[in-house]
Amino acid sequence: MKDALHVNNNVLFSLPYTATGEEVYNFKKLAEKDPFQCPYCSAKLIVKYYDERGLYFSHQHSEAYIESKTVDKAEKRYTKQTERETKIHKEMVSIVHDELSTQAKRNSQIIVDYGYKAKSHLKEYPDIWVKIADKEFALSIVTDVKPTVDSTSQSN
Ligand SMILES: [Zn+2]
Repeated sequence: MKDALHVNNNVLFSLPYTATGEEVYNFKKLAEKDPFQCPYCSAKLIVKYYDERGLYFSHQHSEAYIESKTVDKAEKRYTKQTERETKIHKEMVSIVHDELSTQAKRNSQIIVDYGYKAKSHLKEYPDIWVKIADKEFALSIVTDVKPTVDSTSQSN
């Protein structure tokens, strides 16, 4: 890409199409100080130059790498989110996930994943994410439900 977000002043910075060898060197050196971010995913960008393409910004890491980093972060946040859940919560989630995965193997219309993996951009994650045809479902398993006792009726 030709444009990157300049971190210091938050404006788009465009690389020139042509540059001398020295300018290429300077742009590359400048990028090493991390001032350029991808306007879409905020990843760090580096400057590359090829004769047939000219100067351009490139992700330092591949999209796959960024994707796996995002899922790593999401997993950590999900672990935090479920810290206060009961012990049985984890087991229940895994039982339901296994059961749904078995269904998904038999039916290509069904896709099952963990919430934090399928929707790693969310602030709060559902435990399980299911897609059936074009409909998405978020499942959260609640295990710390206590029966509410109506004290007035009990005293009768
Ligand atoms: Zn990006």
